[in-house]
Amino acid sequence: MAQAGEIKFIVDSNVGKLAKWLRMMGYDSLFFHSIDDARMIDIALAEGRVILTKDTQIMRRRVITSKRLKAVLVHDDDPAQQLHQVVKELNLDCQFRPFSRCLECNQPLMPKDREEVRDLVPLYVFQTQSQYMQCPTCHRVYWRGTHWQAMSRQLSELTTGASG
Ligand SMILES: [Zn+2]
Repeated sequence: MAQAGEIKFIVDSNVGKLAKWLRMMGYDSLFFHSIDDARMIDIALAEGRVILTKDTQIMRRRVITSKRLKAVLVHDDDPAQQLHQVVKELNLDCQFRPFSRCLECNQPLMPKDREEVRDLVPLYVFQTQSQYMQCPTCHRVYWRGTHWQAMSRQLSELTTGASG
């Protein structure tokens, strides 16, 4: 089973929602905004990333057909089904790791003391939460609130395939 840290992704813009879900699971997932396929392939090769795409053209490239570069052709339009396919095909460990990567910019999060984030979070959060993580790039602060719990539930449903 592939754990976070053992496999990295580059997520094509046509399956962009996958990036956030994979980051929630702790996987390094670069979102590729451009439509320049050659550039995406260069990055994937240079950084050892698996390509996730809906683009059948990319799958026909020699670098992919020769297995020099791994790519997964995503079939479904529904992000939930897309995630389910990727998890199954690559045998991913679906543990939810909400405190590992920034959902917005994919940076590994840094632990912060409660006092350090005092002015950055709502008062009720400060009063009720003791563990915080912060993104070194965008400075967004994360904590285990109800929002995370809801996403965690949704993710476990998605990865086990319980939600159609
Ligand atoms: Zn960030």
